[in-house]
Amino acid sequence: AGSALGVDIGGTNIKWVHRTGAAVVARGTLPTPAAGPARVAAAIAEIAGARTVEAVGVTLPGHLSPDLRSTTTIPNLDGDWQGFPLADAIERATAKPILLMNDARAFASAELALGAARGHTDVLFMTMGTGIGGAIALGGNVLRGPGDRIGEIGHMTAEPGGDLCGCGARGCLETVAGGRALAALWSRALTSRGTGNQDRPATPEDLVRAARSGDTTAREVLDAAAMAVGTVLGSVLAQLGLSTVVVGGGVAPAFDVMRPAVELALLDRRTLIGPVTLLAAELGPYAGAMGAALNATAQPLATTSTL
Ligand code: BGC
Ligand code: ZN
Repeated sequence: AGSALGVDIGGTNIKWVHRTGAAVVARGTLPTPAAGPARVAAAIAEIAGARTVEAVGVTLPGHLSPDLRSTTTIPNLDGDWQGFPLADAIERATAKPILLMNDARAFASAELALGAARGHTDVLFMTMGTGIGGAIALGGNVLRGPGDRIGEIGHMTAEPGGDLCGCGARGCLETVAGGRALAALWSRALTSRGTGNQDRPATPEDLVRAARSGDTTAREVLDAAAMAVGTVLGSVLAQLGLSTVVVGGGVAPAFDVMRPAVELALLDRRTLIGPVTLLAAELGPYAGAMGAALNATAQPLATTSTL
């Protein structure tokens, strides 16, 4: 019960929901201020100030300090987030208790409580957007660990020595199959054909549209990304002994195009993990915000692993 604001900070937009009990009474979207964390904190305080809530949950597309009060590495957000005391900043401005959490773990807890994973206990979650997020539920709990850092499948190596990732490493899965990587690959393909448009950079949606209309290069780009996703998923499922995956995030509406290659990659793992169930997320673009709102008043939130 209780009433809470859940805020999901993304690279492009901030999405929020105001929850009272299990009901969403209001929600909204605004562009993420590009000027960095202090401006983002002010924007969140403004939303909270306009609503009557007991607590505020905020998700970040990246990593938090072990005490969940500050941001550390946020691979895909503009501005200098390293070591920013975000919880203090929002708390000072709103006088409400603030919970910071990772966006993918927030998404997972909402989908587990209310969405595609309802009734399941052991599930791997993946969010496909600008970055690739992950979460692991075992025994009905989303694992968090210090700093809410368990489940970072986007930073597993998919291409040793590959492109530099926002996290500082090379060849992470999100450099091969994240939204930003897909857009860059498609831009490159269009430029080499001489059909690129300098004024409007290509988006992952452009790539998916081209693949759907039968463009061979677009299909190859998406198939390669999907093979990488399937390979990483297969490794994680084998490691954890899981066979259910929930897929969400902004690029997830394109997952049907990627599914055959993901499934092909998973076939290699059949002996160990058997058939894999790939479920589409059900709660839509506000799932992360909902997860933040749900966790903000859940007392006490396990900040360490429940294993
Ligand atoms: C970050 C994750 C985040 C994901 C989706 C990745 O780059 O490392 O923590 O969940 O992007 O936003
Ligand atoms: Zn990385």
